[in-house]
Amino acid sequence: MFTLAPLPFAYNALEPFIDAATMKLHHDKHHQTYVDKLNDIVKNNPDLENKTLEDLLTDPRSKNMAGGVYNHDLFWRFLSPDYRLPTPDPKTIEQFSNSAMSLFGSGWVWLTDDLKVISTPNQDAPPKNVITGIDLWEHAYYLKYQNRRKDYLEAFLKLVLK
Ligand code: MN
Repeated sequence: MFTLAPLPFAYNALEPFIDAATMKLHHDKHHQTYVDKLNDIVKNNPDLENKTLEDLLTDPRSKNMAGGVYNHDLFWRFLSPDYRLPTPDPKTIEQFSNSAMSLFGSGWVWLTDDLKVISTPNQDAPPKNVITGIDLWEHAYYLKYQNRRKDYLEAFLKLVLK
């Protein structure tokens, strides 16, 4: 059984960049749903029972829901006010921004510790050496920013490049 870890900071800790209502919906509803659906998949497929979350990232039956759990765990860690991202150079930030703006559909853009920008579609998980990442599913920003992905991206950058 997987359980949802509490958000590692207050819902309003990221104001005004990401509002408390968005954080509450995102963590308590969306992230919780990935946990619940992953547990259903494991229950219905007994051979998955003793697998770790990381094992489940690569099984076609569980990868979407396992990725949803895993990616959001990372995202909260990266957004945490206690987390310090080593400041990347302006060219890397520009690549990250361009990649975030051009990602089609739902997915993520990540930055690795060797300053590679990587995008993953849907809830596909990133490589292990990521140091930050942005959730580009509309549920991550729609309440506050509606369809204005650029405003959300700019707010995200202000938040993480503090
Ligand atoms: Mn999300």
